[in-house]
Amino acid sequence: MPSPEPLDATEGELLRAVDQATQLARWIQARRPSAREKSDRTPLTVADLAVQTVLAAALERVGPTDPIVAEEDSSALREQGDALAEEVLHFVRPFLGKITRRRLAQLLDLGAGTPAERYWAVDPIDGTEAFLRGGHFVVALALVERGRPTIAFLGCPTLDARGAADTLAEPDHRGLIGSLVIARRGRGTWISPLEAADFTPVRVSNVAGLHEARMLQSVAASHIDADATRRFAQAAGIERPPVLMDSQAKHAAIAMGRADLFVRIPATPDYREYVWDHAAGTLAIEEAGGQVTDLAGRPLDFGAGRRFEQNAGVVASNGLLHDAILSALGARRAP
Ligand code: AMP
Ligand code: MG
Repeated sequence: MPSPEPLDATEGELLRAVDQATQLARWIQARRPSAREKSDRTPLTVADLAVQTVLAAALERVGPTDPIVAEEDSSALREQGDALAEEVLHFVRPFLGKITRRRLAQLLDLGAGTPAERYWAVDPIDGTEAFLRGGHFVVALALVERGRPTIAFLGCPTLDARGAADTLAEPDHRGLIGSLVIARRGRGTWISPLEAADFTPVRVSNVAGLHEARMLQSVAASHIDADATRRFAQAAGIERPPVLMDSQAKHAAIAMGRADLFVRIPATPDYREYVWDHAAGTLAIEEAGGQVTDLAGRPLDFGAGRRFEQNAGVVASNGLLHDAILSALGARRAP
């Protein structure tokens, strides 16, 4: 069976954990979980907490000293009360056995780590809003060393390895298998159907002209400057309308060669991206032959904190298009 060998024991264990966590997310999604609101007004479901708990337990087993920098922590359990905690316990029990509320909070709070020379970046459900409405979401886990992702896992329950770009917009859940992506620095990006552990290497597309490029864009209008993005597409001569997709499913689609680029122009100039929203996806694209930078063409520095300090916005492409995209962005900024 083809696989990205050799996987060491840690990689193998984490691959299994991400695979299981992704199936768990899909299973919970099918049960139509309710939407809750966190104190920062962003949405939360039982799946965000259950998936992060399962991943934290696996990370604790493989490397208890490496900090985990994750989107969630146990504050949601305190804010939302007993019902949510009981639901999370129900969903993690098949993986972790009978665990107490205290242990649950402890596992979730492992995610409150501070980025260090070496840390794990975790987004248990990247695209929670999409998770709630049946759009694209991913389970994302990456090891960051000295400011760069070196191992990445993306569980993509809404994305298959093959298919045309124009079928990406909204996943058709009938007949969807989903995929699992693993990338390691210097060793390529590989993809397997979920639950199958049958990996093949993937490459970015070889589209070299922006006029024929397939561009992706966030669904959430509030996450980007949509007007500036439109002006960029015009300046770049991109003829096809953008395909709207949530989450790092965009990164996975570019790594697989199913699309060619996205730009993420912040809605407000001071917005700084969270590391867990980009770490795994960035390595998946780079190891598939593509390129990821900020809007000024600088590499993303994942070592500065929970958010980027040095980088504004993101440009991701198949590499061939990258310089032309950056020039068009420069043109956009010109008066
Ligand atoms: P996407 O679906 O590509 O827009 O990415 C989803 C991610 O956007 C979420 O995981 C959030 O962390 C992040 N996000 C939330 N608010 C904003 C914002 N105002 N600007 C940019 N990204 C945001
Ligand atoms: Mg996210």
